[in-house]
Amino acid sequence: MKPLNFQIARFTISASNLAQCPPDQGAEVAFCGRSNAGKSSAINALTGQNSLARTSKTPGRTRLINFFGLDDSRRLVDLPGYGYAKVPLSIKEHWRQHLDAYLTCRSCLKGLVLLIDSRHPPKPFDEMMINWSAESGLPLHILLTKSDKLKRGARVEALQRLAGRLPETASAQLFSATAKIGVEELRQKLTDWLGKL
Ligand code: GDP
Repeated sequence: MKPLNFQIARFTISASNLAQCPPDQGAEVAFCGRSNAGKSSAINALTGQNSLARTSKTPGRTRLINFFGLDDSRRLVDLPGYGYAKVPLSIKEHWRQHLDAYLTCRSCLKGLVLLIDSRHPPKPFDEMMINWSAESGLPLHILLTKSDKLKRGARVEALQRLAGRLPETASAQLFSATAKIGVEELRQKLTDWLGKL
């Protein structure tokens, strides 16, 4: 299938709970990851525009679910970054509940992109998402980000180490927003998911 045009993505709405999300119709893919994993940079590289992820980083929006429309029926979704140390536990719990609600109730969610820094092993949050994909059956695609920081051999090793232990529902690839590694592969994956309306 010819890749969708991701450059036309436009910010649509921010939601702090499931009720505020756009109608549960059409198809969407969501991006998640620990803060600093490279999520904003990846969304920028995917869409070829810097303004989008900046929207999600606007103060007040970092804890919200941010929606970017591709057309009337397809959306990219930026989930709140996980792991801001300074956030009080009560707020973390609030996020967790809304994220849980989003992940479990959203019928139009076709797949989840999880960003993990390629230089580090998966952290508990990452393991939780991998296990959740296996349990729920929701397809998961992992981007091993900032792979430009690794030498070729180390890159391949990082990918093999992870891919060897993933459930059937999950796949993984190398990615670098800076060096534009894996951008087309990501576009193809998202096109496969979003094409299935
Ligand atoms: P987010 O918090 O997950 O949205 O992460 P950001 O996209 O803001 O990136 C966090 C930091 O990592 C920033 O300083 C980025 O410049 C850097 N970064 C992101 N992607 C890459 C990459 O592909 N290569 C390198 N070398 N640095 C990156």
